[in-house]
Amino acid sequence: MPEICARCVMDGSDPSVTMDENGICNCCRRYDEQKALRGYRAGESERELEALVAQIKADGKGKEFDCIIGISGGVDSAYLAYTAGKLGLRMLAVHVDTGWNSEVAVRNIERLCDRLHLQLHTIVMDWPTMKELQRAYLFSGLANLDVPQDHLLVAAVYRFAREYGVRYVLNGTNIATEGASSPFSRQISCMDYWHLRSVYRRWGRGKSLRKYPHLSLIQARWKFAAIAQVNLLNYIPYSKKQAIQTLSSEFGWEYYGGKHFESRFTKWFQSAYLLAKFGYDKRRYHLSCLINNGEITREEAMKELDGPPYDPQQMKEDEAYILKKLEISPEAWAKVMSEPPVPNEAYFSQDGIVRLAEKLLGARRSTAIRNRKSK
Ligand SMILES: [Zn+2]
Repeated sequence: MPEICARCVMDGSDPSVTMDENGICNCCRRYDEQKALRGYRAGESERELEALVAQIKADGKGKEFDCIIGISGGVDSAYLAYTAGKLGLRMLAVHVDTGWNSEVAVRNIERLCDRLHLQLHTIVMDWPTMKELQRAYLFSGLANLDVPQDHLLVAAVYRFAREYGVRYVLNGTNIATEGASSPFSRQISCMDYWHLRSVYRRWGRGKSLRKYPHLSLIQARWKFAAIAQVNLLNYIPYSKKQAIQTLSSEFGWEYYGGKHFESRFTKWFQSAYLLAKFGYDKRRYHLSCLINNGEITREEAMKELDGPPYDPQQMKEDEAYILKKLEISPEAWAKVMSEPPVPNEAYFSQDGIVRLAEKLLGARRSTAIRNRKSK
C-alpha cells in the first residue's frame, strides 16, 4: 500500500512524488509556494488586475481585438471567457476541433459565444492527418497522448495572434485548481514539434503532415514567448465549484463530469490508458488541487477514488470506438498495453539544442555586460 500524503491524496503511483518528515508531499509544498508567488491575494490581486486590463486595452487600441482566447468547452476556459467579458476585454475566441468533441462541449461553446457575443474561429483539423498523428502516439508508449491536439491549439492561437497583431493570449491555466502542474505530467513540452515528428517518424504510416499547423523551434521557444500569456484566473478567487454554478445559471452551461472530459479522447486517455499502462490515476492530482483550494475534503476525495474514474462499461465502449476510429486492431493494442511505458527521452527533442542556444545566448549576454562595464 503506497504512502498517501497527509494533506492531499497524492501517493507513490506518481514516481516523482516525495514526502517530507510530516508526511506532506512535494505537490502540496509546490502548491503553497506557487500560490504565495502567483496566486490570488485579496486586495493586491484586484489592483494588479485593474492595471493589467488597462494595459491590455491600451495596447489593443486601433486593433480589432485586445486578446485571443482558446476555448475548449471545458470549465476553466469558459469561466475565463466569462471573466474577461465582464472586464470589457474584446476577445477573439479560437476553438480547435480535432474530431473528438463531446456534444456537451459543442453546446457549451455555442452558448458561451452567443451570450458573450464572442467572435469564434473554429479550426476543423484535417481528420486523415490528425488520425495518423494520434494513431502514432497510441503506439508510442508515451504518457501524454494529447500532444498532437495541444500543439495544434498553441499553433492556432499563435497564428491568430500574429494575424491580428494581438499581444495578449488569455490562458485558463491557474494555480487555484491546477497547482503548478502534476509532477507526472511534467513531460516534454507540447510546443516541441521535433519530438512530435520523431514519434511520427517511428510510428506513423508515412503520410505527409503538411496539413498539420505547427510551430517551428524559433516560433515555439522565442516568438510565442514574446506574446504575453495572461493567466487571468490567478487574479481572482477562483473556485471550480463556484465557476460551474455561475456558468450553469448564466449560460445554461452543462458540466461533463470530470477534468478534461469535454473531449471523448482525452477522457479515455486520462482515465483508462494512464491507469492501465502507468498505474497512475490522474484524478489524484486534480482532486488534490481541489483539496488545497478548500473546495473538497480529503475524505471526499478518498471516497471518489474508491470508485472507477468513470463507468467501466462506457470506458470499454470509448476504447473500442477510439481504436476503430484510429484503425488499430484489438490485437495490436493488446501488444502496446503489454509492453513497458516509454520515457520521453526515447524520442528526439528540441531540449538539447535549446539548452545549448540558451547557454550561448547567456554567454553572449554576459560578455556584453562585461564589455559595458569595462567602457
Ligand atoms: Zn499532498
